[in-house]
Amino acid sequence: MTKAPFTVVPREDLDPICPHCTQPITEVYTKAKGPGWFLFPKTAIYFCPHCRKVIGFSQSRMA
Ligand SMILES: [Zn+2]
Repeated sequence: MTKAPFTVVPREDLDPICPHCTQPITEVYTKAKGPGWFLFPKTAIYFCPHCRKVIGFSQSRMA
């Protein structure tokens, strides 16, 4: 069992801040891109509901 190098503290009372517009993110928008075939998995794009700038991506073959 490896120990985490830092302490992880769940803070459900705090909202993450968008790195682009610095507004609190209480929800995140997502949109799927790509055909979603076996060799071309769908890419989900997550973006800020305030400024619509992209916060992150994730790939899924299940979508
Ligand atoms: Zn934003």
